[in-house]
Amino acid sequence: MKTLHIDVAVIGAGSAGLSAFRAAKAAGASVVLIEGGAYGTTCARVGCMPSKLLIAAAEAAHAARSMAPFGVHVDGAVRVDGREVMARVKGERDRFVGFVVESTESIPDEERLIGYAQFIDDNVLQVGEHTRVHAKRVVIATGSSPYVPAMYQALGDRAIVNDDVFAWDDLPRKVAVVGAGVIGLELGQALAWLGADVTMLGARGRVGPLSDPAIKDYARDVFRDSFHFETHAQVEAATREGDSVRLRYRDGAGELHEDTFDYVLVTAGRRPNMDKLALHNTTLEVDARGVPVFDPLTLQAGKHPVFIAGDANDVLPLLHEAADEGRAAGDNAARYPDVKPLVRRAAISVVFSEPGIAMVGARFLDLADGSFVTGEVSFEDQGRSRVMLRNRGLMHVYVDRDTRRFVGAEWIGPDAEHIAHLLSWALQMGLTVDAMLAMPFYHPVVEEGLRSALRSAAAQLAVM
Ligand SMILES: Cc1cc2nc3c(=O)[nH]c(=O)nc-3n(C[C@H](O)[C@H](O)[C@H](O)COP(=O)(O)OP(=O)(O)OC[C@H]3O[C@@H](n4cnc5c(N)ncnc54)[C@H](O)[C@@H]3O)c2cc1C
Repeated sequence: MKTLHIDVAVIGAGSAGLSAFRAAKAAGASVVLIEGGAYGTTCARVGCMPSKLLIAAAEAAHAARSMAPFGVHVDGAVRVDGREVMARVKGERDRFVGFVVESTESIPDEERLIGYAQFIDDNVLQVGEHTRVHAKRVVIATGSSPYVPAMYQALGDRAIVNDDVFAWDDLPRKVAVVGAGVIGLELGQALAWLGADVTMLGARGRVGPLSDPAIKDYARDVFRDSFHFETHAQVEAATREGDSVRLRYRDGAGELHEDTFDYVLVTAGRRPNMDKLALHNTTLEVDARGVPVFDPLTLQAGKHPVFIAGDANDVLPLLHEAADEGRAAGDNAARYPDVKPLVRRAAISVVFSEPGIAMVGARFLDLADGSFVTGEVSFEDQGRSRVMLRNRGLMHVYVDRDTRRFVGAEWIGPDAEHIAHLLSWALQMGLTVDAMLAMPFYHPVVEEGLRSALRSAAAQLAVM
């Protein structure tokens, strides 16, 4: 057994862990990076990148089928070759993963350990069977895994998660997607546009991350054009029948349905990876999910020299947040006890559907009643959106009544990912609706829709 004495041990070589490692090194600490699984990160291997590759293929198929109204015709059927689609998804994905692996492997051997880490006590980690690490401080950056309810676990290889989709060699014929969160919506619409018969079984009316009821209802109707979407489904039974799965579920009206699918794709949320850490060997206080209780600003677990970053803490499970948190956790671990709060960027999240969903700043649900006005625009008659025949969408922008500052937005609409950046930058700069309206708007662009929403908010403030 090898023994190592180190300032900072970083557990997990994902996006958060790699940032933490670099930040702790830059602050002058001796650091070791511990990884139990494959190098390459969740984002590149089975997350952000392969999902966007699958979506890109789906958008190409959808565009080819949607040309006729422009007078442009594809003579003959649009044919999707599932094997070619998956070959490109996996080939490009492997290219992205290759860059991350190369960069991770460029870290000197003596600063990397391969094996799962578990705590022996507050400051000692066992890595695999081979190394004992005495660390003055620890960064937990172990990521998260898909949650699969017990009902689906009994279905064997016919109950799948996102990781399995990106291992397919061909596309399936018929899929049930359980869970209408971000991952469910993105993969569900992509599979449907690539020709699969998709049924999405959501619960409690959820449509991705949306919290504004009007936007949620609008988005639900948009997705119903792509696939069969039950927003209030209750699955009562899931049984394996040969190479298929039979599901029995009730819809929102209480009516019973039964159907058979090739696969059940479970997108019912993710859980922080804590199971292999043996936290019971430490004096860390843990919450109901088994995650150490931590300060969301400093990322520090109680008064311990332990910091938690990325999906492992489940605050904002997004790539850029994982990288920012990793950087802060690594820096704090290196400088401990001189610990600083993390300065978060303006909140931004995007669902890469078409039309896209985006949220910036405060959620509608979290705004105090009466403290804000809602500016609205429909993209149905928005000039450029109509030109491109992408004129579906509804946007709400929220503006504080007293300060006239833009505080948040929720919407579904064309080019949402780009408009989300304009809005998050405006939010981070603390702009008022007047300052935003004084910015340039070219013509004709989708952003003119945003201007209409801002004008509608300003008009409401004017009559108060
Ligand atoms: C399908 C999908 C699509 C997504 N799309 C987007 C998107 O478009 N935009 C976006 O911003 N975010 C997206 N995300 C989220 C994003 O991928 C994550 O927020 C991000 O990858 C989290 O990084 P991380 O470092 O926390 O975790 P990870 O990258 O998962 O790293 C954690 C690492 O810890 C290792 N580990 C776990 N336990 C131990 C242990 N005990 N010892 C040693 N090593 C251990 C794991 O093997 C893993 O390598 C998506 C996620 C999914 C699943």
